Amino acid sequence: ESFTDMCLHQSIMKDIAIHGYTTPTPIQAQAMPVALSGRDMLGCAETGSGKTAAFSIPMIQHCLAQPPVCRGDGPLALVLAPTRELAQQIEKEVKAFSRSLESFKTAIVVGGTNIYEQRSELKAGVNIVVATPGRFIDHLQQGNTSLSRVSFVVLDEADRMLDMGFEPQIREVMRSLPEKHQTLLFSATMPVEIEALAQDYLTKPVQVRV
Ligand code: AMP
Repeated sequence: ESFTDMCLHQSIMKDIAIHGYTTPTPIQAQAMPVALSGRDMLGCAETGSGKTAAFSIPMIQHCLAQPPVCRGDGPLALVLAPTRELAQQIEKEVKAFSRSLESFKTAIVVGGTNIYEQRSELKAGVNIVVATPGRFIDHLQQGNTSLSRVSFVVLDEADRMLDMGFEPQIREVMRSLPEKHQTLLFSATMPVEIEALAQDYLTKPVQVRV
């Protein structure tokens, strides 16, 4: 399947072209139609496979179908990733595919950066938050953001997040989401702990493996 066959918003199509992507990678060809259909997904994919775009593009498209974000609103979509470096890479990719969209905002919420700047960014209202679990929970607990409008969640490199001890934070987020939401879980390995997480929080997931 080509990007053209995926019925993407024309701004996103334009940004994909500007970014220099012409052909979907195997994970993109498999995962994007599933993600765009609204189904939950369990993806077994490594870094380097093109998984970032595989979830970022459907996530942006999903946000475009939601009511607009105003000051004080919580985000529409949330990506949790294990490290600051990975979160930064993801945010860069999300920005690349949403740059032609008017007033589409993303925020990165990671440790080791100024929490007050992040707070004002969050409070201004953003479409998408890319975060590490610990810092995101800090902001939730301080009332700087909310999960009340989140309807699309990505757990990226979930096995690494569990290795780093983020399972309680992930579970805290997952159980606090509004009932109606779509979840994509990516993991390079599928240990029983990941299977349990999928069992607890994914609804009839489509499994994608490359
Ligand atoms: P990722 O696995 O998401 O970290 O992506 C690995 C690398 O592949 C990144 O440098 C991307 O920019 C690149 N990439 C992802 N998808 C495509 C594509 N469809 N065409 C060309 N390069 C891509």
